[in-house]
Amino acid sequence: MAKNSKIEWTDHTVNLWWGCSKVHTGCKNCYAEYQSDKMKRGTRNGSKLWGEKTYRRKIKSAFSDLGKYQAQAKKEGKMAKIFCGSMMDIFEDSKPLVDINGNILEGSTGDLREELFQDIMGGMYENLIFLFLTKRPNNIGKMIPLEWKNGVKSVFFGTSISDTETLKYADELKQLKFQNLFLSIEPQIGPIMTDEIDLKGIDWVIQGGESGYNKRPFDLAWAYEMKEICELYGVPYFFKQIDKRQAIPEDLMIREFPEFINQ
Ligand code: SF4
Repeated sequence: MAKNSKIEWTDHTVNLWWGCSKVHTGCKNCYAEYQSDKMKRGTRNGSKLWGEKTYRRKIKSAFSDLGKYQAQAKKEGKMAKIFCGSMMDIFEDSKPLVDINGNILEGSTGDLREELFQDIMGGMYENLIFLFLTKRPNNIGKMIPLEWKNGVKSVFFGTSISDTETLKYADELKQLKFQNLFLSIEPQIGPIMTDEIDLKGIDWVIQGGESGYNKRPFDLAWAYEMKEICELYGVPYFFKQIDKRQAIPEDLMIREFPEFINQ
């Protein structure tokens, strides 16, 4: 199946909107904000999309793209992974919307989120596996449909952590006690105290360092440690990158998926 995403752990990336606000140290060099600002400079009326009191830009093609990926996966008799999204946080509090020219639109990001969840529940995307990655795991329980409170087979919920200090977000995620929970330890910018890591209830771990001009260094020892902890807990481990420039050592070129995603 043709992938539209450069992100190694998904097939496609879909953004319902662009824009977000920073949560923790992992957001410091937010690539999405950089991309968005770069694009804004090229438009006459582009809006500022990062911050608590700013608008979010609705992406018009999001739902038609999902329809296209569903049709393609069905035709091939496969399940396709959808990361939603790389330029937004699906569980951010609801924000007002603008179009690409900065015109204010009706509705909010909360409406778009709700529409997507309803479509998934209605069976529109039977060949898609949704990967919802958030830095706001506390909002997941409040924002998902009641029917998902015990987890849902084709939806994975993940959170990003970056060091020992942000490990508390993993604890918030685990409070959900759902099936299909994953941790994205990316960008990892500091050590994580190994004796504080408890992967019980976590179904998948992705790890990687930061890339880009201002990247903070990644210590390969963190990867070997995490790989060992995942083995200990029997959790699939996916090593994404050191910094996108340095080659990944052969014994770290591990790209495992949970069984359901892998089928
Ligand atoms: S949560 Fe993600 S998209 Fe939002 S500011 Fe942080 S890194 Fe950027």
